[in-house]
Order: sequence, then C-alpha cells, then structure tokens
Amino acid sequence: MREEIIDNMQSINPYTGQVICDYREYSSSEVEEIIAKVDFAFQSWKQTGFEQRAFCMKNLQARLLEKKEELADIIVSEMGKVKREAISEVEKCASVCGFYAENAESFLKNEPIKTESSEAYISYQPIGTILAVMPWNFPFWQVFRFLAPALMAGNTGVLKHASNVSGCALAIGQLVRDAGFPKNVFRTLLIGSKAVAAVISNPLIKAVTLTGSTPAGRSVASAAGAALKKSVLELGGSDPYLILEDADIELAARLCVTSRLINAGQSCIGAKRFIIAEPVYDRFKTEFVRLMSEAKFGDPLDPRTSIGPLARVDLRDELHQQVEKSRQMGASVLLGGFIPEGKVPFYPPTVLENVIPGMPAYHEELFGPVAVLFRVNSEEEAIQIANDTVFGLGAGVFTSDLEKGKLLAEKGLGAGCVFVNDFMKSDPRLPFGGIKESGYGRELSTIGIREFVNVKTVVVR
Ligand code: NAP
Repeated sequence: MREEIIDNMQSINPYTGQVICDYREYSSSEVEEIIAKVDFAFQSWKQTGFEQRAFCMKNLQARLLEKKEELADIIVSEMGKVKREAISEVEKCASVCGFYAENAESFLKNEPIKTESSEAYISYQPIGTILAVMPWNFPFWQVFRFLAPALMAGNTGVLKHASNVSGCALAIGQLVRDAGFPKNVFRTLLIGSKAVAAVISNPLIKAVTLTGSTPAGRSVASAAGAALKKSVLELGGSDPYLILEDADIELAARLCVTSRLINAGQSCIGAKRFIIAEPVYDRFKTEFVRLMSEAKFGDPLDPRTSIGPLARVDLRDELHQQVEKSRQMGASVLLGGFIPEGKVPFYPPTVLENVIPGMPAYHEELFGPVAVLFRVNSEEEAIQIANDTVFGLGAGVFTSDLEKGKLLAEKGLGAGCVFVNDFMKSDPRLPFGGIKESGYGRELSTIGIREFVNVKTVVVR
C-alpha cells in the first residue's frame, strides 16, 4: 500500500474553506485487485434474474429517501450547492433507481424479428464491468444515472469520481452495500485522473462512460479507442435558447433565469446563450436582468440563499477570466462580472451582451451563473448563432406557435435534446446526451440501458 497523501484527493468545503478530508489514492495494485473482485462478482450477478436485481435496486431507492438529509449534507459540504437542490438531487437518484427497477426487464426483453428462419430474435446480454468517470457538479445524480441501468442490465461497475467529491463517492459505495447488492457488484476507486487510462486498458474492464469536460472526454475516448472498448461521453454544453417574437416573454425570462442559475450555473444543460428576436429584445432583457439581480449568493445551508459558492476557487477564477477577457474585447456587462470580496468562491449572477465571435463568452462553455444575450433580426440569424458552437447538448425555443417550435426543435437546432417553452431537464424516461463536442451515446430511458449490453442476434434455422 502506498502511504503518501496526494493533494488532489482532498475534499474542501467551498463555503467554509475547511479541509474535510485528505484521501489516500489507491495504488495500481489495489486498483487491479478491486477490479478482479468486481469481475468475479459479475460472473454470478449476470446470472441473477431481474426480480432479484430489482429487489436490491428498490432497497437502494428506499435508502436514498431515508437518508436524503444526511446525503444532501455531504453534497453541500463537498461542492457547495444549496441544500434544497442537494435534497432534490438525492430524490431524483431514488427515482431513477425505481424507474429501472420497474422497467429494466421490459427494456431488455427478447425482441422477435421476422425472417425466413424458424425463429430470430435480439437478446440483450450484460457485458461485464463498466468504468464510470464522473464529475463533481451533480455528484450523486451523475453516478446514479449510470449505476441504476448498468446494474439492472446485469453489469457490474467501478466508479472513479471527481477528486473533490471522494466523500460522495464513498457514501454511494456504502449505500449500494447497505441495499443488499452482492459484495463487489459496485466499487469506488479513489484514484486521480492520471490513473484512468490504465484502468481502461485493464482487460477486465469492458467499457467506459465519462461525464465531464471535453478535454477529459478526448483522453478517455483515446484510451478506450486504443483498447477497442466502447465509450459513452456526456460532455460540456453551451445551450442556446431562442426567444421568438411571439413568445410569452415573462414565462421565457423566468424559466431561462431558473435554468441559468440551477447549481450556481454549474450545469452542463444550463441555458447559457439567449438569442432574442429584435422586437422583444428590450422587454426580455429588462425582465431577465431583473430576475437575475434578485438571486442572492450566500451560505448554501441557509434556505434564503439562491446560489451557493462555486465548487472551487480555481473554477471561479477561470470563469471570471472568461468574462473579463470578453469585456476587454468589447462585451458589455449588464450585471455582475466581478469577484466578490472574501475568500469564498462566490460569483454573482452576470449578464453580458454585445458578445461577438472571437470572445471567450461566444465560444466557450461558461460554467457558472453567467448569461449571454444576443439580439437577432431573423429566425435564420437566430439558428445560425445557436448552432455556431462546438457543443450540441441541449437547446430551447420559446414561441406561441407550437408547430414552428417543433420544426425548429427537430430540424433547426443542432442539439441532442430540445425543449419547447421550457428549459431542459433530465428525466429517467427520456434519452439524454449530445452531439458534436458534447459527446456521444445516450443515458437514461430504453436507449441508455442498451448502451452497455451485447445486442445479440439469435437465429434458429
Ligand atoms: P472534468 O474536469 O472533466 O472532470 C470530470 C471527471 O473526469 C473527473 O472524475 C476527473 O477526475 C476526470 N478527468 C479529468 N481529466 C481527465 C483525463 N484527462 N483523463 C481521465 N479522466 C479525467 O469535469 P468537471 O470539472 O468535474 O465537470 C464539469 C464539466 O462536466 C463541464 O464541462 C460540464 O459541462 C460537464 N458535464 C457534462 C454533463 C453531461 O451530462 N453532458 C453533466 C455534468 C457535467 P479529477 O477530478 O481527478 O480530475
């Protein structure tokens, strides 16, 4: 066992600045030993029926609900989101457990195909141990939306969580054990990102899923490609929302602000760019800025707080640099755009306009409470700006003409998910994922559970 403590495996409470815990990174031999145990557990887990898997999954659902306050406190202390959002996150994890416990069997049942043979069908079989590399921003939800379908499909899993949320990672491992899953069906690996490629190349790991930034996606996809293993990538986003001339402006402004501020703006599917038809631009802008200015940052445990601190000082400083550089290049700051006094990594709700190509705020993901407003003179111009991005995760359109909204959603906006007159939310029933540099593959729904199975063709002459 290696004894040294490496500094990137430290949990620090972003609000109090206190070190919660220093974690020791597992050595490569410890990692290999755990993976061998998880593979061993797979050999019997894959033989269990859906009923037994569902029994464990429902226990897990119940435990999440029983312990939601305590689990929410771990989330708040490690990454700073406000407590009510942490509680909803845990409740959502419970709902995805219930969803797959109820539906996995029907999602994976044999599908007959008519051919000239006497019988032909598709059978969905588990493939083995899947590595999940996960981010800190929804430290429970991101893991559960992998874990619930993977285990219900008969796979086993190992989790490499973000290094600043090891407490969440360990708590999830404990919950799975307490729910009565067989030993080693799911294990947490406390390792840094440098150790990920070696895990992917381990022959007992059959596939990898990563939720995180685009650079992390590139390295995980390269390692998976080199080892010829399947990968699913859920990466960043810069979601555009079109506000058409006939939109309900009060509704649009309210929902757009809600989406922009969820999780202090640290959401891959947060609405980030707002593309507004000229005739309603000023009205939308006034209402949007007013609502953004009402959001108060503060103690994430105080129920009056709208947004907590950002998860880490370096992330807050990076966000401010994107804003500051855009301002120096000519963007106007309508609200916020400064680093508040004190040591807590707060960032105020910020609104930018006059943002043009070449500025960071035009091209890059703004992972915090920063919104960019664009004024456009036609729908063509709106679509052109919306799609002028390397990302393609979510998008939205506000209009009272639903047929037009659906047409823009289907044919116009380059994204994996588009919401009309609402903001994007993940839902266990709906496929979730992106295109372009937002990644590939889908999570959730029937499609998500089929990402990590052998789609096996069986033909009887
Ligand atoms: P991140 O820095 O990419 O980290 C995500 C995970 O990847 C962490 O476990 C991290 O480990 C690991 N990692 C980082 N670099 C790696 C590398 N080169 N090789 C292997 N693993 C690596 O992202 P984050 O800051 O935690 O999360 C924010 C990003 O995630 C944003 O871009 C956001 O949009 C995206 N996100 C996407 C979705 C989605 O569903 N599409 C959902 C949530 C977040 P360490 O912590 O040890 O570095």
